[in-house]
Amino acid sequence: MPGVFNDVLLSLEKANMHLNLPDGIYKRLRTPRRSLIVSVPVKMDDGTVSFFEGYRVQYDFARGPAKGGVRFHPRVNLDEITALAALMTWKCALVDIPFGGAKGGVACDPTVMSKDELERLTRRYTYEIGMLIGPESDIPAPDVYTDEQVMAWMMDTYSMMKGYSVPGVVTGKPVSLGGSLGRGKATSFGVVITVLEALAHLNMKVEDLTVSVLGFGKVGYNAARILSDAGARIIGLADSKGAIYNPQGLDIDEVVRHKREADSLHGFKGAEDLTVDELISIETDVLIPAALENQINGSNANSVKARIIAEGANTPLTAEADELLTSKGVFIIPDILANAGGVVVSYFEWVQDLQRFFWDEPAVDARLTTIMKRAFKEVALISASKKIDMRTAAMVVGVKRVAEAVETRGLYP
Ligand code: GLU
Repeated sequence: MPGVFNDVLLSLEKANMHLNLPDGIYKRLRTPRRSLIVSVPVKMDDGTVSFFEGYRVQYDFARGPAKGGVRFHPRVNLDEITALAALMTWKCALVDIPFGGAKGGVACDPTVMSKDELERLTRRYTYEIGMLIGPESDIPAPDVYTDEQVMAWMMDTYSMMKGYSVPGVVTGKPVSLGGSLGRGKATSFGVVITVLEALAHLNMKVEDLTVSVLGFGKVGYNAARILSDAGARIIGLADSKGAIYNPQGLDIDEVVRHKREADSLHGFKGAEDLTVDELISIETDVLIPAALENQINGSNANSVKARIIAEGANTPLTAEADELLTSKGVFIIPDILANAGGVVVSYFEWVQDLQRFFWDEPAVDARLTTIMKRAFKEVALISASKKIDMRTAAMVVGVKRVAEAVETRGLYP
């Protein structure tokens, strides 16, 4: 069965219809540069040893060190990690930061592991991929089910292997270890900037804008909060188990409090309980999928009624859903543009670590805003001039930059 990487190759093929890259360059862009599979043995709390499979794929690093997150999730596999590493390559090029693309992950279920088990898993995984990572070669970051603490363990493990502290080996670290102010909310802040740009582009206003968010993790929660502060009405929220809906708007902080107590979104006062698929089909101006990949697919895409989709997650739409919704005229802000804020502030963090010179939060936010607006405008311009959808336009901009670097460097030997 074709996997997620196949969808990535399809969108690369679409972009190449407008780029007409030389065959040798195009073939290189279709192939990951390096893929490492590691076995990660972990002593569990009960004394037994479990084995987990881990990956690190460096898709391309023609433009600079490879960059990309690490996810801990039961569904992690080489196909998925390769696809996500390719997306990181186009994403970094699209926002024009000097990185190639990578991704890593371990197939495990962190929700059933103790903190000690997670720490041992993280440290052993870091050791196993230690031959690839480093501030000059490949810089991991948080992704699904990994956080600041996991980055702190990775930084410590790598530093222990070196014999001195290397803060620049990972980003998304706690501020106390060389993390950047503004990194925690960066992905969501970037999503919101692109939504506001889309509104201006489509002559819509943020006041009275209705928004539904799928996924109530760091990205979904912060996007809902920031958009709500900007004047939008958050009418629907979903996590992996269920959804809530209130056409008058939801109070995000109250929802957080409720979820902490009830361990579920369902039962929130004043809201209607829905299934996630029911929420997907609700009338809303903006839909923000901010959970796992393929959440909107052939089985539910037809019911989507949103005017704008902003992809907070990576590949939340299957190729089939993307085609269907694009043909229906939905304005899709693709993942490599919408959620690039995270890696942009990761870049700022890396720069600050290398310089040992740290910025205040307004400086981080202002620089992020400049980059996100510039990227949006560039993509919108290509989309209008070539009469192509925003995803293909974003791919055209990103892939063109990577292809230029690959071509200019030439083929070794
Ligand atoms: N995991 C995030 C992404 O998919 C951030 C990656 C990074 O900061 O390197 O973009």
